[in-house]
Amino acid sequence: MSRALFISDLHLSVERPGPNEQFFRFLHEEAARADALYILGDLFEYWIGDDGIDEDPLGRQVVRALRVLSRAGVAVWLMVGNRDFLMGAKFCAESGARFLDDPRVVEIDAKRVLLMHGDTLCTDDADYQGWRATARSEAWQKEFLAKSLPDRRETIEGLRAKSKAVVQAKPAEIMDVNEVAVREAFRVHGVSLMIHGHTHRPAKHEHEVDGRLCQRWVLPDWYGRGGYLALDAVGPRLVSF
Ligand code: MN
Repeated sequence: MSRALFISDLHLSVERPGPNEQFFRFLHEEAARADALYILGDLFEYWIGDDGIDEDPLGRQVVRALRVLSRAGVAVWLMVGNRDFLMGAKFCAESGARFLDDPRVVEIDAKRVLLMHGDTLCTDDADYQGWRATARSEAWQKEFLAKSLPDRRETIEGLRAKSKAVVQAKPAEIMDVNEVAVREAFRVHGVSLMIHGHTHRPAKHEHEVDGRLCQRWVLPDWYGRGGYLALDAVGPRLVSF
């Protein structure tokens, strides 16, 4: 039986060296002993486009560390989140990571597992879903990527400041997943195991969907201690650092 590790919501940034160091240690130790590493979004606090890698020391350091891991034979999979959704082909080519669409069903030791970042399950947050549709549109991305790197950084800083104020004013339950959306995801994909991040509320949830008992695992963020989900012969479990 293989061993797969799942992480998300590291929000790596030059402003917080702690999680960055934790991540490089994690790649060197736990991840190096695994068969596969799944990164399920928001690896970075924000990402202004793959063409910014060359001028981004932290981005380059992450690319190098993932390349070491993938060359050592660990399969590295990358799904983007709501912060770093502009990561793509160049990041993957340079790091050896393979891109995962969201949602995506993978088969691990004959078990089908639904992987998502998790933001699409938060359907009660209409403002956010509106912004998501804009930011994922070809028109918005084309316009954004046409800006210079410093202009993009400035735009993102502005959006982050605005989003911080909006998030603080929102009731907490709006920013959690919607139960109907969760059931629908289990149903549409025909799975009984789901792993996602985004809500920063690490937990194991059980849902009964059409008479089937389904498990939903939520990954921890790395603002605090950080951690990961391990899936191996023992079964899925959350591990904190
Ligand atoms: Mn997120």
